[in-house]
Amino acid sequence: MPPEKLSGKKLQVSGVVQGVGFRPFVYRLAREHHLAGWVCNTSRCVEIVVEGRPASLDSFVRRIASQAPALARIDSLVVEEAEPQGREGFAILESRRLPGTEALIPADVSTCADCFREVMDPADQRYGYPFTNCTNCGPRFTIIRSVPYDRPHTTMAAFAMCPRCREEYQNPEDRRFHAEPTACPVCGPHLWLEEGGRVLESDVLEAAGKLLRVGKIVAIKGLGGFHLACDARHHEAVANLRERKGRVAKPFAVMVPDLNEAERLCHLDDLTAHLLLSPERPVVLARKRDHCDIAPQVAPNNKYLGLMLPYTPLHLLLFSHAPAALVMTSGNLSEEPLVFTNDEARTRLRSLADAFLMHNRDIQVPCDDSVVRPGAGRFTIPLRRARGFVPQTVSLPVDSEPILAVGGEQKNTFCLAWKGTALLSQHLGDLDTVETFDYFQLAIAHFKDLSRKDPRVIAYDLHPQYFSTRYALAQEGVKLIGVQHHHAHIAACLAEHGRRGPCLGLALDGTGYGPDGTIWGGELLIADLADYQRQGRLAQIPLPGGEAAVRDPRRMAVAYLHAAWGKEFAQKARELGLIFDPLEGRILTHQLATGLNSPLTSSTGRLFDAVAAALGICRTRTYEGQPALELEMAAAEGEEGWYPAPLHADGSLLVLDTVALFKETVGDYLSGAAPPRAAARFHNSLARLLAQACAAIKDRTGLETVALSGGVFQNALLLTRLYDLLSEQGFEILTHTRTPPNDGGISLGQAAVAAARLEKG
Ligand code: ZN
Ligand code: ZN
Ligand code: FE
Repeated sequence: MPPEKLSGKKLQVSGVVQGVGFRPFVYRLAREHHLAGWVCNTSRCVEIVVEGRPASLDSFVRRIASQAPALARIDSLVVEEAEPQGREGFAILESRRLPGTEALIPADVSTCADCFREVMDPADQRYGYPFTNCTNCGPRFTIIRSVPYDRPHTTMAAFAMCPRCREEYQNPEDRRFHAEPTACPVCGPHLWLEEGGRVLESDVLEAAGKLLRVGKIVAIKGLGGFHLACDARHHEAVANLRERKGRVAKPFAVMVPDLNEAERLCHLDDLTAHLLLSPERPVVLARKRDHCDIAPQVAPNNKYLGLMLPYTPLHLLLFSHAPAALVMTSGNLSEEPLVFTNDEARTRLRSLADAFLMHNRDIQVPCDDSVVRPGAGRFTIPLRRARGFVPQTVSLPVDSEPILAVGGEQKNTFCLAWKGTALLSQHLGDLDTVETFDYFQLAIAHFKDLSRKDPRVIAYDLHPQYFSTRYALAQEGVKLIGVQHHHAHIAACLAEHGRRGPCLGLALDGTGYGPDGTIWGGELLIADLADYQRQGRLAQIPLPGGEAAVRDPRRMAVAYLHAAWGKEFAQKARELGLIFDPLEGRILTHQLATGLNSPLTSSTGRLFDAVAAALGICRTRTYEGQPALELEMAAAEGEEGWYPAPLHADGSLLVLDTVALFKETVGDYLSGAAPPRAAARFHNSLARLLAQACAAIKDRTGLETVALSGGVFQNALLLTRLYDLLSEQGFEILTHTRTPPNDGGISLGQAAVAAARLEKG
């Protein structure tokens, strides 16, 4: 038989293909097929050149696509014919930088089962080593300084590999083949404990565990920043942490060593367990068991606990010595950005922590824990998108030149978008502190570097006071595209699903700038990516004292009482026990009578505030969204009752009579309904009223798709009720599953709107 003619191919693979074990996979596959050639990371993609028998080449190409490593995501695979050169052997070449590049950066991945096994195995060379990782796991995004993703471009560049690590790194048969952050006790980073003036270098984890067991607060340097940790069962320690951090009631997350321990504390349905074990290892809200013995101060007035499992060897090893449930909250003073360098920890966390568990692997990019909420076992509601998810990209249904979307003000993220790809930043927090705003600007510069994009188009919110807006307006030589807040919410939801609309959009949140000079927040829109039209809204209510009413739910309750009962409002307020000091009471009454300093709002968040305060469920707000959260938590389960409330027409605008809904709710309560019942009925009724309004707009427009967005959809009870009613009506329903419905998703929506407007010209 004559020797078969050789042929060659050149492949360009893009997507998430760097830092996920892709080159070793290609190497092994090529060897298996007896192909010669090379594979190389470029800053644009992974390039592969192979030659060999045609049948082997075909099989090789097929298996590249079908058997890629679990963490890889192939967005495109371009295959060209190439002249065979008579190459011998297969090699992994040094990375190449190309100008104008767009390789996607991998996200951090929680420690894999193999690595966890090694650190617990006394016979292994990495036994007890907290920085163990491999090609399938470990730090990525948080250590990357520049692309392509190679060790010299990470904060691991500071550590020279020992001969043994280098051998593994170079051995294609090894699990650590080209694992960029690989390390061992001989050559890698190390841990120490600082307490008072002392530095402890040995038996560090034992010492840290001991401190935690006696109720001390330890700052622990993790993957994306410092955590403040304490024993979650130690009432005094938890109270102490709250006081030092200046965080009154906002729930803390709790880390437990494994799923069994999680199961002991909370009810875990399949979705919850799945999310807890997912490689992103987010904080997952899970239903507390009745006998859950975590200190109540960890998550006051909350039926749920934010649980997470260890995602680095450091965490797992610590549990050999520490209490079995640790509060793990971001290392910062309330509202300030996350601390991520050792020096900053020593100064900014000095008054918060009793000791510091530190190491010398630098964090390049701070990244908080992500938070997801499984709703009713069937919705995955992202509450905060950060570690593990960032910088995974979201595909946009519109191609465009590079765009920077600067996001909103609270829970800020920004977004870079180009050619149908959206790269969202991690959750950065509220921009109204100097530190966070500074970091916002730094992060934009870093993301521009990583993506090699310098957008000439900037999308921003219409609110003139947002720091993100001011930042956008201060940029020179760029095209500016203003996007209405609630349009951005709906566009984000559409974009996430790869849709352009038009759809019916329900944008329910606390606050957003309305182009008519009022504050929006309970909006029914008809929207596609480029444009929107307001079709309906909640009843408008004055915000007596403006910001003061946002911060004090009692003021909202009184504003609603005034709208519902007119002159009798003061009497009703007394019946409800809503007491103000005399001066404040007089000012409030004056504001309600005259409209002085009382802008109008159709906000859904404020309606929740009013009901929570009226029912006596939450009358003091210590964090954004607290009254709404506590109202949901108070709602009696299985309650099916509801209150009637009408729809009105205001010209072509549909108005949901939420004042009538409030009046019914409070009336029921005053005639004896227990708060949990009234709270549940309120949710049921609002869902009905919204569904009724959607049906009316469907009749009017024929639109059968509805997108649900805005911070109110973090409420699983309302979401579930509304979803079921809308399905009964035959709607196709889009909800957020990859980006938060809250303002963390605004930047994605802005980018999508800007791309669609550019396309329209
Ligand atoms: Zn691993
Ligand atoms: Zn080593
Ligand atoms: Fe919003």
